[in-house]
Amino acid sequence: MKVFRTISGDVNVEQMGFTLSHEHLITRPPNYIINKDPDLLVDDVTKPVKELEVFTKAGGKTLVEMTPRDYGRNVPVMLDASQKTGVHVIATTGYLKGDYFPKEVEHMTVAQLADYMIGEVLEGMDGTDCKAGVIKAGSSYNYISPVEEKVFKAAVIASKKSGAPISTHCQVGTMGVEQVELVLREGLDPSRMIVGHVGENPDYYLHKKMMRLGAYIIYDTPSKVKYATDQLQVDLIKKLVEDGFEDQMMLSCDMGRRKYWKSYGGGPGFDYIPLKFVPRLIDEGLPEDVAHKFNFENPAKAFQFLP
Ligand SMILES: [Zn+2]
Repeated sequence: MKVFRTISGDVNVEQMGFTLSHEHLITRPPNYIINKDPDLLVDDVTKPVKELEVFTKAGGKTLVEMTPRDYGRNVPVMLDASQKTGVHVIATTGYLKGDYFPKEVEHMTVAQLADYMIGEVLEGMDGTDCKAGVIKAGSSYNYISPVEEKVFKAAVIASKKSGAPISTHCQVGTMGVEQVELVLREGLDPSRMIVGHVGENPDYYLHKKMMRLGAYIIYDTPSKVKYATDQLQVDLIKKLVEDGFEDQMMLSCDMGRRKYWKSYGGGPGFDYIPLKFVPRLIDEGLPEDVAHKFNFENPAKAFQFLP
């Protein structure tokens, strides 16, 4: 049986349904970040249930929660929201980016970091038996620091040993190609690599190159017009489909801010991709079966566990 790993256990990929591949349900960034930008603290424990209800009403079934421990991952709150709404929640181990790494990461070896990630995938996170279903690694704006590179190397070892895929953070969409090249050098099967935030840097050549190398990419920028208009992203996606990459793209919204959530009085909310963006892709000429791949078939392959 082909499965993906949720915080409540392994689930047959046929049960995955409509999936948002890079989201956040509860976060607590480092204090200096909260002080600069309090909107990034998404910590009301009652709201994930409300947002997941918005998601299920729009047909949502599975959500990949990409908050690692260095960004305030909260396993009990995710579990509660998943149980109350029936949404499959995939949680992440690993780390976000250098600025947020806990001090000890600097001193840990690649093997020690890998052991930590493997333990979270195979045994459980934060003293619970809820397991991580994906491994996060990330890099800074236009560079991969030596410590970030160390985390990537550990993530590759952990992915190979545990069967979980790697999903990444690209600061403002930069360094995606370099991330893929790095994991390839470390011997990872590129189809186990998912590059996030590419839409923040709407660059056709770079997106194509990452997929040519064999990785998946996530457009998690629809609605965030401060980075790129939806029109630009629709055009890029259509062009990349014409180039034959329809099986390597996914769609999400990466809503790690209060102002993105309806329950905090903001928007667009967890129904934006299913109710607005996918219909728009179809309205703009993408065949329906192709538009659906980004939230059904492609996540079902990308987040599937390897034995
Ligand atoms: Zn994110």
